[in-house]
Amino acid sequence: MHEWLAANEFLSIDEQQIRRDRALRRLLEHCYDLVPYYKELFGQLNIKRRHLRDPNILQELPILEKSDVAANTDKLQAEFLAPGQHSTRSTRSSGTTGQPTTVYHDKRSLGMFPWLKQRELRWFRYDPMGSLLSIRPDIEMPKTPQGALVKAREILKLDGWPYMRNLFETGPSWGFSNINTVTDQAELLNRLRPNYLIMQSSCLEFISMQDISSGTMDSLRAVQSISNTLTSSMREQIESTLGVPVHQDYGLNEIGLVAARCPEGGRYHVHEEHCLVEIVNDDGSPCAPGSQGKLLTTSLSNFAMPLLRYDADDLAETVEGPCSCGRTLASFGSIHGRYRRTAFLPEGTFQRWAAIQTALARNSRINKAAVRKYQLYQDLCGAFELRIDCDPEFSTQIFADCRTSFDQAYSSNPTPMLSILIAKEFKGEGQRKFQNFISEFTPEID
Ligand SMILES: [Zn+2]
Repeated sequence: MHEWLAANEFLSIDEQQIRRDRALRRLLEHCYDLVPYYKELFGQLNIKRRHLRDPNILQELPILEKSDVAANTDKLQAEFLAPGQHSTRSTRSSGTTGQPTTVYHDKRSLGMFPWLKQRELRWFRYDPMGSLLSIRPDIEMPKTPQGALVKAREILKLDGWPYMRNLFETGPSWGFSNINTVTDQAELLNRLRPNYLIMQSSCLEFISMQDISSGTMDSLRAVQSISNTLTSSMREQIESTLGVPVHQDYGLNEIGLVAARCPEGGRYHVHEEHCLVEIVNDDGSPCAPGSQGKLLTTSLSNFAMPLLRYDADDLAETVEGPCSCGRTLASFGSIHGRYRRTAFLPEGTFQRWAAIQTALARNSRINKAAVRKYQLYQDLCGAFELRIDCDPEFSTQIFADCRTSFDQAYSSNPTPMLSILIAKEFKGEGQRKFQNFISEFTPEID
């Protein structure tokens, strides 16, 4: 598998196209024959099985929104699967809308993860025997030996790197929740002195501004920035203070790993054995080179619940021509996702925002579709306003849960003001990328 992935990276452009078209046709035919949602859709669009030989047919399909997936979880699942490929696990994501999206994966789709992770880290030139510290949300880390989520101030110790240890021998790793204060995070970093560090972009920028010992800097070889947008000034801040390169990838709970940023060329290469990526205008047509558009992903590995042209609400730039690294896999430029600058926010903001998100996700799980959309706004006095578009029937319960979580998230005197209201309108909705957290303390994006 490893050899195959490595060889695929340097095939001729023509060969890449042939393989891409073949994989797509196989998936489309499977959808046509066995997936009720697509049987219906192809029928409505008058697409016959023979039309699937033309790879451009993909562009004629409508964009698949998160809300479509949430509303059609059953119909998007295949009626039959190849022996041994039954769907083994589901992934969930709550996203900016508050609506949980559940996607079932077959064995092959889930099985791709550690191999693609290994490819990604090979591109980053990680030494597998090095040590790794992850500081991220508790739900994104492996459970403790007792089967629980990592608690605040608890350090998770593993004998290998998360999600890879069943396939590859690696050095040790540690996990620490990003709810911990930045002082605690920096103290742990200085104590463990890992070779590699993985954190959300905004938190990584913040920790790079702390007192990091020279011994820690000597051990550190690279860092990986995840989840939120990393602007060029954030990258510069991190690379210049920590003295190591910042790596990035792009993945979705609903799909798996999608692409990794090439250290040589600075663009993202798509894992085309696993998925296809299109960058499109709002009407679904391909974007002109050098422009920005919606990033759509089509999973090629998941026959249990295929997603065609799935819009996870991220924007990316298109790029032209070959990459300087020589790899011929499809590629795209910078990604514009959620924008956060934790370092510039009043103390406790991050913890309170995390607590509200957890409370809303919990309520969405209990009463499906109770929360349609939400946004937290922080004014220059540090006061918060939480707008929620939710079912009025559940609003009392949701408001109370958010308030309790907010009050308990961080102790300071006095606790900042929080007002909560039902709303249908949100700040900055005219902009292309909806931001569910807006603070007046956040610097302009660069
Ligand atoms: Zn490259």
